[in-house]
Amino acid sequence: MNLKTKRIRGMQDILPDEMKKWQTIEKVMTEEALIHGFKSIRTPILEHTELFERSVGDSSDVVEKEMYTFVDKGNRSVTLRPEGTAGALRAVLENGLHNSPMPLKLMYESSCYRYEKPQTGRYREFFQFGLEIFGSSSASADAQLIILAHSILERLKIKNVSLEINSIGCKNCRKKYIEAIIDYFNSKINSLCPTCKNRLTKNPLRILDCKNETCSEICKNAPIITDYICSECSEHFKILQKYLKSQNMNFKINPKIVRGLDYYSKTVFEFVCNINENETLAICGGGRYDDLSEILGGPKLCAIGLGFGIERILNIMESQKILFPKEKPPEIYIASIGEAAKEKAFKLCKTLRNAMIFAEMDIIDRNIKSQMKYADKLGAEYVLVIGENEISENKAILKNMKTSNEIEIPINENFLNDFLNISVKNIGF
Ligand code: AMP
Repeated sequence: MNLKTKRIRGMQDILPDEMKKWQTIEKVMTEEALIHGFKSIRTPILEHTELFERSVGDSSDVVEKEMYTFVDKGNRSVTLRPEGTAGALRAVLENGLHNSPMPLKLMYESSCYRYEKPQTGRYREFFQFGLEIFGSSSASADAQLIILAHSILERLKIKNVSLEINSIGCKNCRKKYIEAIIDYFNSKINSLCPTCKNRLTKNPLRILDCKNETCSEICKNAPIITDYICSECSEHFKILQKYLKSQNMNFKINPKIVRGLDYYSKTVFEFVCNINENETLAICGGGRYDDLSEILGGPKLCAIGLGFGIERILNIMESQKILFPKEKPPEIYIASIGEAAKEKAFKLCKTLRNAMIFAEMDIIDRNIKSQMKYADKLGAEYVLVIGENEISENKAILKNMKTSNEIEIPINENFLNDFLNISVKNIGF
């Protein structure tokens, strides 16, 4: 086939078989979030570019290199959201939700856009399931959110997952830390990659994220943030650990987690999964962002949030051969011979569907043999065959596809009840 246009690189079509798996994942995530008191929110895919420059940070990789930004017809710079938190907080502030009783717990599923090099687990359009808790500065909120994420991963039966946590302190203690790492990296400046040389003046924390081998080696001996955090941040971090331990949660303190976005303070964390002996992939990341509301012009509003990468979770579940529930087949297929029978099938189908019964019938004028074959392919539990004789006698043949047994069933106003009696009682006539 010579298609004139194709899918955009780094973006995926999610086909029906895959969608079923997505829905399974989304269902587990939503159910867990609901029993923790989260309510759903949906925000626009497009925001003013400034929102992300101010929140994610204009010297972050996401804003500097990865955003889908363009000028709209009104000459405004707009951006396809690269992540969900900034838009969620903007919506909270703009709609006055910060005045509602606290804590405010929000969940959403959003498509996100980052112009990154497509590779395993890295797409240009990807979906995040996000959770945000507003209005609590307590480390117990951080712990609850992390434990909730853990429950989701457990319910999805994902193996080889570990939790890594860190505290990057508040803006005050981070100042001292940044001075310390600037001193340290300045002493190694000649060995840093060109990007990190640039980061040293613009955003030195980002050097700790660098994937370049020499830079990673240099980072191993860099000062660690936990040695620089103030007593309040340190206490907050200790309480978080106490709560996690009280739930027997295993975690590792990884002082190298600074996360790619600028708005975090205090707690940051990632759930990472081993995809082979040497490689890990972050499947969920989050952190506290107590200053972001003020940065966006709102009041003081403490907050913590996380984002799951749905594609990554799905890829890992598939590679770990975790079974997904199968699509349900139709309960009944109505096969018909001739126009009058088809009209009857049409009516019966509607009656069944009104009662929330998954019913199918022929709509592409197959002959009866092909209809039976198709019903079998679909895996229909019963097939009702209506022919010309059946119409005149107001009855039809109901075939149990498992046993191949057949009975006659009236196709009058009692049809629904009669069918329910047979199917619910699972009469294997
Ligand atoms: P971040 O906003 O970068 O902390 O990302 C949160 C989560 O989204 C990560 O833990 C990943 O699971 C997922 N993620 C981030 N970037 C991508 C991407 N380009 N493609 C697929 N998933 C991603």
